[in-house]
Amino acid sequence: MKLMEEKIWQECKILSGSVLKVSSFLNHQLDTQFIMELGKEFARLFAKEAPTKILTIESSGIAIAFAAGAAMKIPVLFAKKHKTSNVSGETYHSVVHSYTHDCDYTVIVESEYLRPGDRVLLIDDFLANGNALEGLLDIVSQAGAVAVGAGVAIEKGFQEGGKRLRASGLRVEPLAVINYMDDYGVVFD
Ligand code: 5GP
Repeated sequence: MKLMEEKIWQECKILSGSVLKVSSFLNHQLDTQFIMELGKEFARLFAKEAPTKILTIESSGIAIAFAAGAAMKIPVLFAKKHKTSNVSGETYHSVVHSYTHDCDYTVIVESEYLRPGDRVLLIDDFLANGNALEGLLDIVSQAGAVAVGAGVAIEKGFQEGGKRLRASGLRVEPLAVINYMDDYGVVFD
């Protein structure tokens, strides 16, 4: 998606050579009109899969997932990183390794919101080593639901996650793929 590449060119910063900072439009401040366009693109890409629900991880996935859910007129569920007092009843859990924080955390989804028969579209902001999406896939499988694909705003194609997920049979659709980055810039697919 050219729009996504242009936005990255214009606004990204690069931290320690391998972390892309897109806080001006996606990870801190949200460019609402731009994110709604991303949602429409995911809706176009996955229309034929007829998803019944979107699943993402808090917090940076939520805005794009919301935009996609609004475009597809389906609910958006986000896996929580903390078992807060309003999490009740039976839950699904999965342990995920965080690329940006370099630690493990547990994601939680209340089972009443994900049921067998759901056709789930996974959405996230970044795909790097694939751990976040694999955690979501684990939760979808615990629920007896079906993952119909994954949409990510930015795939870092020089990391292994995309390859592994596609090899497992999952359809993965990035809106921009970065094939190389260093302290000075990024190279797209
Ligand atoms: P993975 O689990 O695929 O290794 O990493 C994906 C998760 O790590 C995303 O949910 C995202 O929050 C974070 N992440 C990975 N790489 C980057 C990056 O370059 N920039 C930012 N802002 N987040 C990233």
